[in-house]
Amino acid sequence: MTRQFFVGGNFKLNPITLESKKSLISGLNKAELDPSTEVVIAPPSIYLISVKDIVRKDVKVAAQNCYFKESGAFTGEISPKQLVDAGIPYVILGHSERRTIFKETSELIATKTRAALDAGLKVILCIGETLQEREAGKTAEVCEEQLKAVVEVLKEADWSNVVIAYEPVWAIGTGKVATSAQAQEAHVDVRAYLAKAISAAVANDTRIIYGGSVTAVNCKELATQQDVDGFLVGGASLKPEFADIVNAKK
Ligand code: PEP
Repeated sequence: MTRQFFVGGNFKLNPITLESKKSLISGLNKAELDPSTEVVIAPPSIYLISVKDIVRKDVKVAAQNCYFKESGAFTGEISPKQLVDAGIPYVILGHSERRTIFKETSELIATKTRAALDAGLKVILCIGETLQEREAGKTAEVCEEQLKAVVEVLKEADWSNVVIAYEPVWAIGTGKVATSAQAQEAHVDVRAYLAKAISAAVANDTRIIYGGSVTAVNCKELATQQDVDGFLVGGASLKPEFADIVNAKK
């Protein structure tokens, strides 16, 4: 199976007004986007439904997070069922900002992943090492540990609805992008782990995208790598250059 190129835009806590949200989406609606790339944007939860309603139909919408319970006394949370009901097909889980600022553990992220998939969502699952871990030669080990928690609760069946985002923490929002060789090496290791832990088919078919300071300038070189199946883009997803990243394979 060939893996469809995938580009996600993680808006994080941006934009901060209804007006700027409208102009961001209207810019994207006018852009020329490679129809062979799957494009997904993740606005803040307050804008999910309105973005879904105004964005072009070839661009899908993702939540940046969700809880694992369907309903109940969980103030501030959004459930997978609510997202599905609202017509939101994707959710980002395990982003490094959730892991570090909000202290989400790999076990919690695995539980959320299971719940999201069970509810019918597709999951963009983020993993990645800190600078300290990379310098200690632990990149593969850390990615494997983060993935293992999910593998243990998912088993084989659900992986077609999972996109893995390899996002080295030192590259997120820092302007320090991984070299294409570093990205390729990490993706090969992740794929090898999937083959070992699940199956050769899952390893071959699962998209592994790179995230961390991707721009219009560096995306083409990264996209030449055999195991780089796309990008998760933070800062640059708020700019017109997001279209160039979507078109990186063109
Ligand atoms: C991200 O938030 O997932 C990300 C990769 O951010 P940036 O592109 O700004 O580094």
